[in-house]
Amino acid sequence: MSNIVSINKKITRFSVVKPETEQKQEEPKTPEIEHMHENVSRPEMLVGGTYKIKTPLSDHALYITINDIILNPNTDHEVRRPFEIFINSKNMDHFQWVVALTRVISAVFRKGGDVTFLAEELKAVFDPKGGYFKSGGRFMPSLVAEIGDAIESHMKTIGLLQSEELSDAQKQILAEKRKEYEQSKGSTSEDGEFPESAQLCMKCYTKAMILMDGCMTCLSCGNSKCG
Ligand SMILES: [Zn+2]
Repeated sequence: MSNIVSINKKITRFSVVKPETEQKQEEPKTPEIEHMHENVSRPEMLVGGTYKIKTPLSDHALYITINDIILNPNTDHEVRRPFEIFINSKNMDHFQWVVALTRVISAVFRKGGDVTFLAEELKAVFDPKGGYFKSGGRFMPSLVAEIGDAIESHMKTIGLLQSEELSDAQKQILAEKRKEYEQSKGSTSEDGEFPESAQLCMKCYTKAMILMDGCMTCLSCGNSKCG
C-alpha cells in the first residue's frame, strides 16, 4: 500500500496521527465496581431477615422483612446492601401508612449512598399518645421508632452500621457498679433486668440509670452524668 495520497481539495481539518504503539497502549483493566443506584435490577433471589415486633399497642405482632442485594459478589468489593422492606401484620389499623412507609424506605434503599440515616430518623419519631417499654426496660417512643430500631439491628447484622457493643472492661465496671448499688439498696434484680428504681437513660432509652456517688450512671450503655 502506498503512503502517498494526493489531495485535490482544500484542507480544512487535520489531526496528527500518533505512533501506533502509543495508540494501542491501554490502561490495565480494573473490574468495574457496582454501586447501589436506582437502576440496579432486582435479582430473582434476595437474602434477608424477618424481625418480629410485639408491641403493647396491638394483640397482633408485626413482621418486618428486609431483603438485601449482594453487589460485586465473590470479589474484594463484595457488599451487602438493603434493597427492600416489607411489613406484615394481621392488624390492619395503620395499613395505608405502613405500606406508604415501606415503599418510600425501599425507594431510598435503592437510590444508594448512605442509607443509615433512615434508622436514626425513624427512631426519633415520638408518638404523641406516648410510647411504651419493651422487655428489658427499653423505651420505644412509637411504632415508627420500632421499625427504625429493626432497620438499625439489620444494618448492624449486615455490617452497614457499627454496633456499639461495650468492651469487656466497660461491662465489668458496670456489673460492679450494679452490684454495689444493689448492695446499698439491699435488693437484687434478675439477670438481664435493671434495678426497679432505675430511671430512663436518654441516650439508649433504657430504664437503667442509677444514682451513685452523686453521678447518674446507665447500667445499659454506660452513659454517665455527674452533678
Ligand atoms: Zn443508657
